[in-house]
Amino acid sequence: MNTDNSAAKEAPKFPEQVTGMYILAESLRRLGLMNVYGLVGIPVTEAAYAMQKVGMNFYGFRFEQQAGMAAATYGYLTKKPGVLLTVSSLGFLNGLTATTNATVNCYPMIQISGASDPTMVDMNVGTYEQLDQLNTARPLVKAAFRCSYAKDIPSAVARAYRAAVSGRPGGVYIDMTTPALGEVMDRAEAEKLFYSPVDIASPVAPNQASVDRAVELLLSAKRPAILLGKGAAYAQVDDKIKTLIETYKIPYLAMSMAKGLMPDNGEYSALSCRSDIMEKADVVMVIGARINWMLSFGKGKWNPEGKFIQLDVEPEEIDRNVPIAAPVVGDMGESLDMILAAMKGKTMQADPAWLASLQAETKAKNAKFAERLEKAKADKPMTHWSALAAIKPVLAENPDVILVNEGANTLDDTRDTIDMVTPRHRIDCATWSIMGMGMGSCVGAATSAPEGKSVVAIEGDSAFGFSGMDFATICRFKLPVTVVIFNNGGIYNGIGVNPSGGDAPAPTTLDINAKYNLIGEAFGAKNYRVDNMEDLAAALKEAIASKQPCLIDVQLAADSGKESGHIGYLNPTPLIDYTV
Ligand code: ADP
Ligand code: MG
Repeated sequence: MNTDNSAAKEAPKFPEQVTGMYILAESLRRLGLMNVYGLVGIPVTEAAYAMQKVGMNFYGFRFEQQAGMAAATYGYLTKKPGVLLTVSSLGFLNGLTATTNATVNCYPMIQISGASDPTMVDMNVGTYEQLDQLNTARPLVKAAFRCSYAKDIPSAVARAYRAAVSGRPGGVYIDMTTPALGEVMDRAEAEKLFYSPVDIASPVAPNQASVDRAVELLLSAKRPAILLGKGAAYAQVDDKIKTLIETYKIPYLAMSMAKGLMPDNGEYSALSCRSDIMEKADVVMVIGARINWMLSFGKGKWNPEGKFIQLDVEPEEIDRNVPIAAPVVGDMGESLDMILAAMKGKTMQADPAWLASLQAETKAKNAKFAERLEKAKADKPMTHWSALAAIKPVLAENPDVILVNEGANTLDDTRDTIDMVTPRHRIDCATWSIMGMGMGSCVGAATSAPEGKSVVAIEGDSAFGFSGMDFATICRFKLPVTVVIFNNGGIYNGIGVNPSGGDAPAPTTLDINAKYNLIGEAFGAKNYRVDNMEDLAAALKEAIASKQPCLIDVQLAADSGKESGHIGYLNPTPLIDYTV
């Protein structure tokens, strides 16, 4: 109990009166936005208490950025915005990095930040935690609102929800000023402010002509392919995609977070034939993916004669890098329904040799990969590959586990090794390819279903460092999360050499001898330190089955892993000679 506050002269009388904080909690609750991730302090502490009081889930973090990663992951997995609650100034900025990242990735979330009195900020008087947060956030988010009065809060929350999930989803910011949070209102007056927004995520259908054009092109293809992105996974249209692929026998490729939307090891999966599809396919239907740097901007390696069909909710995405022969702009569910209806009774012109050749190539490439993994089992000390050889069968036995994955080599090698068979069960560093999404994403994933979800995070030792303190949050909330740390002692690897010959660690060097498992001990988690495949497999099995927070430190060879993993080509050409 805050005695200073209750002693104040004009203390509000509950329940006849309420404040903006209570109105905020009630606004969220009545819209069903029950999960709030944040870190409290002046001026939002009581708001978080009010949220708990009205029956919401408040997950208190150690770092706002990770709370934001949790809110974003929750949003991606549930199509309902996760809410991030931050304090003013630094807390706001720390959280804004995650809200920005969510916007880039098209994940719906709402950051609500305490903010100093804007009339004082605007006059630059030097007030407590002074920062023009609204204008700082504005260019980085999908929409931004400021509440200067308590009466504006219900409408701001409802409109933020609508903005976050409508059209292309994204992050929305609400500047929740201290005066609005503290404003006292009669409860009866406040009650009149709440309303139920109608059709909050209204799916928009594409026009029939665009559907007909796309269908005609797809049916005429000799060498068709489907490319699935995380927008397709987000849309939760799994059955429609399955019907399209299986009825018309179209080979598919998945971007990393769309893995599992259709099984990686399915009959029409062409996951291992990416280059072949790029070079040879004559019609590629892109479903909820952006033809950006990850797809060579649709140029170069792509068949210059090839044509794209693109399904996206965002019209401005069309023709971004390459002309799209048949854009279908609309919500994925509506678009696929109309496409399937227009295709009904018609047959594909595809050359049967195309699918057969991709299936043969898949078989050959998978056998080669399996051989490589088999050979890696002899690696001593362990490498990324031998560690993954131990993990692969354990995760195959647990297809309902959500996999969180970040790092450089740890990301690339895990993505290539671990087959996904369930939609929306892989969360990674996504479009920006960022590091530092791990622990927050674990919390968001674990709390994305009311009954809780089991999560395994496979983290590079460097990647883990960005968010490691929020393993404590996983422990406090007793979430069924196992964090596996691939410790090769550095960024990329642990063999960096200081080129000056001095004693200071090289820029990429971390600590190959670090006992990350002791972080588990500090917070009461079951923890393991393993240096061989058998122990790793046993530890992971036990950890997943325990449904408790667990941490596994996997000791790798310091020279396992190369600079920038698979995307070293993005580095500028080196000038100096350096070892990493
Ligand atoms: P990936 O990284 O997997 O390729 P991207 O994030 O680049 O996927 O692309 C996802 C695309 O999906 C975005 O262009 C976004 O506008 C689109 N999208 C997201 N949700 C929907 C939806 N419900 N319906 C249609 N398109 C969507
Ligand atoms: Mg993409």
